[in-house]
Amino acid sequence: MQDRIAQIEKEAQEGIGSAETLDSLDLLSTKYLGRKGVLTGLLREIPALPVEERPVAGKAANVLKQVIESAIEQARSRIELESQDGAAGIDITLPGRPVHQGAIHPITQVMEEICDIFLRLGFDIVEGPEVETDYYNFEALNIPKYHPARDMQDTFYVSDSIVLRTHTSGSQPRVMEKQDPPVRIVSPGKVFRCDSDVTHTPMFHQIEGLMVDENISFSDLKGILTTFVHQFFDDQTALRFRPSFFPFTEPSAEVDIQCVMCRGEGCRICSKTGWLEVLGSGMVHPAVFENVGYDTEKYTGFAFGMGIERMAMLKFGIDDLRKFFDNDLRFLGQF
Ligand SMILES: [Zn+2]
Repeated sequence: MQDRIAQIEKEAQEGIGSAETLDSLDLLSTKYLGRKGVLTGLLREIPALPVEERPVAGKAANVLKQVIESAIEQARSRIELESQDGAAGIDITLPGRPVHQGAIHPITQVMEEICDIFLRLGFDIVEGPEVETDYYNFEALNIPKYHPARDMQDTFYVSDSIVLRTHTSGSQPRVMEKQDPPVRIVSPGKVFRCDSDVTHTPMFHQIEGLMVDENISFSDLKGILTTFVHQFFDDQTALRFRPSFFPFTEPSAEVDIQCVMCRGEGCRICSKTGWLEVLGSGMVHPAVFENVGYDTEKYTGFAFGMGIERMAMLKFGIDDLRKFFDNDLRFLGQF
């Protein structure tokens, strides 16, 4: 009896293990566990055994029944899994699909790098609202209504008094209203102008800086910006300051750097001049200080601003502004 039970178990395990369809598994289930199956036949033989062998044989037959039942259940799960779409015939020797690693957008990278340089120079980072009031975007910065300087910036108006900020400079009066000098801040972020062509996009990024204290002079402005340019590009890069006009600074200067592509020899990027315009700057206009209640006899300061896209294009040698906004992963993946 014991030998027969062992033999049945061996055959059943082999049959169930190699079953490939649910139908063939059902047949095996009927063959072993059905009313006229192998196991029923086995149990019927037990009463004919000698009395002392019956309990042992009965127990072994029950164990065999459980073994076969669980083998059929396992085989059923296996067959169901294999028959699911895509899971059939998994070849575990195939190489895995590559996992694409994300990267920080070049604009964000450059913005963080610029912020890091000014943090090391003792500046704080301040962020203002992208939807700004006319007051902070213009009036507080000495650009009253009908001032011709408003024509320099094509503004998106949300309403008569609300605009999408045209520069990040609005952060400056916001900070100065709340904080007495010394003030040392940079303010990075998105700005918006109603302008779109090869060299302009309606949204772009700027970073502005402001430093106010007693005895701040134009030489401090030159020192800070020279240090910044040398750290951002390299310390061989020459700068030149050209007189300019901004309503919120007096005197104002635009800052050119020696062309980073041709080292001043003259090339297509710098229009053969050897210089690139990168920054606007100047000493804060007393009218701006008056608007925030600073003592113009006691305090002086300077402000500057630059476009992040421009800095990123020069840093990475990119010649088309629009590439930053196409979100082409082949382009973005290079940084
Ligand atoms: Zn050049």
